[in-house]
Amino acid sequence: MIEKTIKSTCSYCGVGCGLIIKKEAKNKVMVEGDPDHPVNRGMLCSKGRNLHYVVNDTSDRLLYPQMRWSRSHPLDRVDWDTALTRAAQVFKSIIKQHGPDSVGFYVSGQCLTEEYYIANKLVKGFLGTNNIDTNSRLCMSSAVVGYKKTFGEDSVPIAYADIELADCFLITGANPAYCHPILFRRLEQHKENNPDVQIIAVDPRRTDTAAFADLHLQLIPGTDIILYNAIGRRLLEQGLVDKDFIDNHTEGFGYYKEQVKKLSLKEAAKLCGVPLADIKKAADIIGVSKGFISMWAMGLNQSVVGTNKNFALLNLSLITGQVGKPGSGPFSLTGQPNAMGGREVGGMANLLAVHKDLMNPDHRREVAQFWGVNEISGKPGYTATEMFEALDSGKLKAVWIICTNPAVSLPDVRRVEKALKNAKFVVVQDISNKSDTLDFADLVLPAAGWLEKEGTMTNSERRISHLPQVVDAPGEARPDVEILCDFAQKMGFRGFKYFNAEEIYQEYCAMTKGTNIDISFLNYDRLKTEGTFQWPVNEYRHTGTPRLFEDKKFYTPSQKAIFNIPSTITNRSIQPDTNYPFILTTGRVRDQWHTMTKTGKVSRLKTHYPTPVVEINPADAFALKIREGDVCEITSENGNVRVKANLTDNVRKGVIFLPMHWGKKLDSDLNRSNNLTQNMVDPQSKEPDFKFTAVHIEKYRKR
Ligand code: SF4
Repeated sequence: MIEKTIKSTCSYCGVGCGLIIKKEAKNKVMVEGDPDHPVNRGMLCSKGRNLHYVVNDTSDRLLYPQMRWSRSHPLDRVDWDTALTRAAQVFKSIIKQHGPDSVGFYVSGQCLTEEYYIANKLVKGFLGTNNIDTNSRLCMSSAVVGYKKTFGEDSVPIAYADIELADCFLITGANPAYCHPILFRRLEQHKENNPDVQIIAVDPRRTDTAAFADLHLQLIPGTDIILYNAIGRRLLEQGLVDKDFIDNHTEGFGYYKEQVKKLSLKEAAKLCGVPLADIKKAADIIGVSKGFISMWAMGLNQSVVGTNKNFALLNLSLITGQVGKPGSGPFSLTGQPNAMGGREVGGMANLLAVHKDLMNPDHRREVAQFWGVNEISGKPGYTATEMFEALDSGKLKAVWIICTNPAVSLPDVRRVEKALKNAKFVVVQDISNKSDTLDFADLVLPAAGWLEKEGTMTNSERRISHLPQVVDAPGEARPDVEILCDFAQKMGFRGFKYFNAEEIYQEYCAMTKGTNIDISFLNYDRLKTEGTFQWPVNEYRHTGTPRLFEDKKFYTPSQKAIFNIPSTITNRSIQPDTNYPFILTTGRVRDQWHTMTKTGKVSRLKTHYPTPVVEINPADAFALKIREGDVCEITSENGNVRVKANLTDNVRKGVIFLPMHWGKKLDSDLNRSNNLTQNMVDPQSKEPDFKFTAVHIEKYRKR
C-alpha cells in the first residue's frame, strides 16, 4: 500500500531527471519518472528506473561506526560519540604537530549542496587549510577553467530547452546515449521531429551517439585542438562568422585568427586522422546553422591538455556568435548529480563559495567575514591527485573521504593504495560496504543515502531541486551534514549548530546575494511547492534564468567574452612507443555508474555489459593473434589488467577501450582500468589524463 507520494530527483547523472517516489510500508519505495518535470517529462533511463532497488536493498549498507585502534587491529564497532571524539582528537593532534595543511578532505559530486557547503566551511574556514577537493575534479575541472577564462565565471550559459531550438549539435568527447540518456532522448526526439537538424559527433570510438550522428569525425585521440582550430579556420575562410558579435562582444579575436591560420586544413586532417572533406563539411554545417550547440564531457576534460581543448571548442561558439541566444551555446555535461552544486559552493581546492576567487584577498576577506573567522588561507589546497601524492610522500597525514571510492576511480590506483596505506589516519564516510577504499579506513562512518536525508542539488543546466527525506536510514547511518557538524563541534568550532538542512541552505543563499549566482529569492518553500529553478533566482528574476548572457554582457572586467588561445595544439600525454604501442582510452558503459557501489547491486543492470572487456580493432587483433573472447593482458608503465577481448570496428586501429567501473570488491583487482592510467594532469585544471595511456596488449598466456 502506498503511504506517501513525493517528488525528488535522480541521484545518478547530471541530467537531473525528476522522479515520483511512492513510499510503501516497511520503508520501501517505488520510483517513476515525473511527467511534469521540465527535464525528463516522465522519461527515465535504465539506471533511474531501477533506483528503488538501490534504496530497498540495504544488505550492503554500512550500519554503525567502526574504528581500529591501530593498523594491526581489525575494525571494531563503536558508538558515534566515540567515533567522532577519536576523529577530533586525531585531527587536533596532527594539526598541532604538523599544521593545518597536514589534513585533507576528499568529497564527491554526489554530496548534496548543503553537505558540500558545510564541508568547505569546516575545512577552509575553520580547519585553516584549503585541502578539500572532490571527485568532480576527475570529470569537469577543465570545463570550469574554460568557462571562467572565456566568460569570466564558471557559468553554463544554456538550458535543456535550447535543445529543441537548435539545428546543429557538435557532440564531442561525450557519449550522451550512454552517459546522459534522457538528454540524448530529447535530442533524438528533436531530430525525429526535425530531420534537417544536423548532429556532428567527434570521438575516437564509434559510440551509440556517433552512430546516430549525421557526421562522425573519428579522430586520433588527443588531436581535438587541431580539429577545432581547423573548423575555426574553415569558418573564417568561408566567411561563416558573426562579425558584429566578434567586434562588439569579444576580445582576442586577432590573435585567434593568426593562430588558426598557422596550420592548413590538409595538415590538420592528416594529424587528426580525419578526412579533409569531413572537416570542411562539419564547419559548413556549423557555419550555416541558426542555432549551434556544442556538448562535451570527459573526452575533452580528462586530458593533460583538457583546458586547451575547452578553449579551442569554446572559441567556435564565439566566432559564430552562438552564445546567449535561443538554441545556442557551449554546454558542458556533468557526470554527477551535484557536480554543479559543488562548483557553486566552492567545493574544490582552488575555489571559494559563490564563485569567489581563492587567489583574490578581498574575496577571501569577504568569505572569512561571512563565516566569522579571522582569515581564509591564500594557499591553494591539494587537488584530487595531489592529495594522494601528498599522502604518499608523508606531507599529508590524515584524509577524510566522503562518498567516493578513490581506490578504484583515481588514476594509477596502485599508487593510491600505497598512499592510503602510508597515511596516518583515514576516515571513510560512505553508505556501502562495497567500496574498495574501506580496506584502508581507520574510521568508518555510515552515512545516510539518497532519499534518507534532505537537501538540494543543481543539474547540468543550473537547475536547483529539493530532495526530501522519504525513508529512514538503516542502522545508525546519519546524514553527512550531521556527521560533519558534530565533528566540527568536537573540534571546538562555533557556527555549526544547525537545526536542519534548510538552515544550512538559508545561510548559503544569504552568501549568494548580489552575486552572479544569486538565489536569495529561492527558499525551501518555493522549491517544495513550485518545483525546480535555474539560477540566478533573485529580485529581478523571480522565476529563474534559463539562459545566461542574453544581454551579451559577460562576467569579465570588460563584459566581453575572451578568445583564449591554447598554449599547445598537440597532446602532451606520454606517447605510444615500441614497448607500449597502443593508446588506451577509458569510459563508461550504459547501465553502470561510477565504481558500481549502487548500480552493481541491481542484477538487471548487469545484463547489458556483465563483465569488463577490452575493445580492440579486428585488424589489430588479427596481427596480435587475438580472437574474440580471448583473455588479454594489457600493461602500461604502471600496472596490468587481464580481461577478455571484444573485436570491434568501433575503435580505431591502434586504440583500445576499457570501461572504468569495475573494482576489486565487485570483481578482481586485475579488471581495474586505473591499474594502467597515468598520474598526469592538466597543468591548469589538474584534471587527470584518463583518455590517453600508452599500453601494450597481447593474448594472455599462463607462465
Ligand atoms: Fe537518472 Fe541521468 Fe538516467 Fe535521468 S538520465 S534517469 S538523471 S541516470
